Amino acid sequence: LIDDGLRSIWFPFTQMQEFSPEDVLVIAEGKGALLRDVDGRDYIDGVSSLWTNVHGHRKEQIDRAIKEQVDRVAHSTLLGLAHEPAIECAKKLLEIVPKGLTRVFYSESGSTAVEIALKMAFQYQKQAAGGNPGKTRFISFTNAYHGDTLGAVSVGGIDLFHAVYGELLFPTIKAESPYCYRCPFGASYPVCKFDCLRQLEYLLATHASELAALIIEPLVQGAAGILVQPPGYLKRIRELCTQYGVLMIADEVAVGFGKTGKMFACEQEGVTPDIMALGKGLSGGYLPLAATVATEEIYNGFLGRFDEFKTFFHGHTYTGNPLACAAAVANLNIFAEERVVEGLAGKIKRLTQGLQPIAKLGHVGEIRQRGFMVGIELVADKGTKELYPPGARIGNRVILEARKRGLIIRPLGDVIVLMPPLCITNEEIDRLCEITLESIQAVVG
Ligand code: PMP
Repeated sequence: LIDDGLRSIWFPFTQMQEFSPEDVLVIAEGKGALLRDVDGRDYIDGVSSLWTNVHGHRKEQIDRAIKEQVDRVAHSTLLGLAHEPAIECAKKLLEIVPKGLTRVFYSESGSTAVEIALKMAFQYQKQAAGGNPGKTRFISFTNAYHGDTLGAVSVGGIDLFHAVYGELLFPTIKAESPYCYRCPFGASYPVCKFDCLRQLEYLLATHASELAALIIEPLVQGAAGILVQPPGYLKRIRELCTQYGVLMIADEVAVGFGKTGKMFACEQEGVTPDIMALGKGLSGGYLPLAATVATEEIYNGFLGRFDEFKTFFHGHTYTGNPLACAAAVANLNIFAEERVVEGLAGKIKRLTQGLQPIAKLGHVGEIRQRGFMVGIELVADKGTKELYPPGARIGNRVILEARKRGLIIRPLGDVIVLMPPLCITNEEIDRLCEITLESIQAVVG
């Protein structure tokens, strides 16, 4: 049944014809940082499903919250009505997001949270006090990933995902992202004194009158292969956006909810964006829920009860679904009650230590780590940083080796990504690192 059925699913990103049926893991259940397949084999979930299950799987409080909500109401719209889980979730969220963000707009995926942020910024600039009708463009970054819907793809910067749709996308101004291991300016940090920021400032100064907003993955560009921004970079972006009158959108879909070691990445540099997009970990990885959180100033730009041009038109059917909001409330309560973020420092250190032997391997070019987010970049030649030919599919082969040894991880090209649930134990962290090392060795020595 499973073998036949697998052929009926068109899997995202994966061309199934490249896999033999025995390569496809069919998951039956999970508990904590572990997943079990239909044959009863256990695996460490080294990537928290898809960077979502921050407290792991089958977290009792979240399971219970969803069951209790099913017994009340499973869905009721937010268009003209409200419900308690949405109200409670918004209240709790506003207690923890950077100060100055005051309004929560719900949706159901990271991509939609980004779309909403873009539409909000665009429309706000058009109708803000006095109006800025010319400020309609966006500045975004090379290597950026903001989701798979067309607006989110337009502000993305990874050719593999985006290039094929070129004619469909709106043009954005692209700034070079700080990929220090392969600096696009040929410089090296910290002596470079931020050539990338100088380019960004030039672009902002040149285009300020046309720009609605800048969009950035704060601290870490995830899908590009965990590209970690140097200290001070994000703070400077905030200053530049303020200086040039460009709204700052922080896409915290991947980095939010503890993954960098603080609740939100913006906190690491004391930054409050004008708009923040959240998804993934918001419901603890249980149900599709996302939020776009904005300042009062942005919200006020949409006031005007009987003025249809001020209305923000974005009303998805499952916006703020009660089951998802109930899961999110339980998720946020766990963060507070179990002091999850406060307890991360020791585990992050353990992870850093566990990665050290991996860094010494002959084909590991660079290991990038920020908190629980790790990217291990594999290279054909450590000295020249030469990449493997894409057809070699080294990253993919490494993750298949890891599966044989009881670990689920994902490659981004030839970057091996680790992002375990925050609940992972020290022993599981050690095992995660050991298996990763063995799997890389098995493929490239
Ligand atoms: N923004 C970022 C930074 C992401 O990493 C992702 C998903 N990986 C998204 C947006 C899109 O989220 P979703 O897949 O839930 O639409």
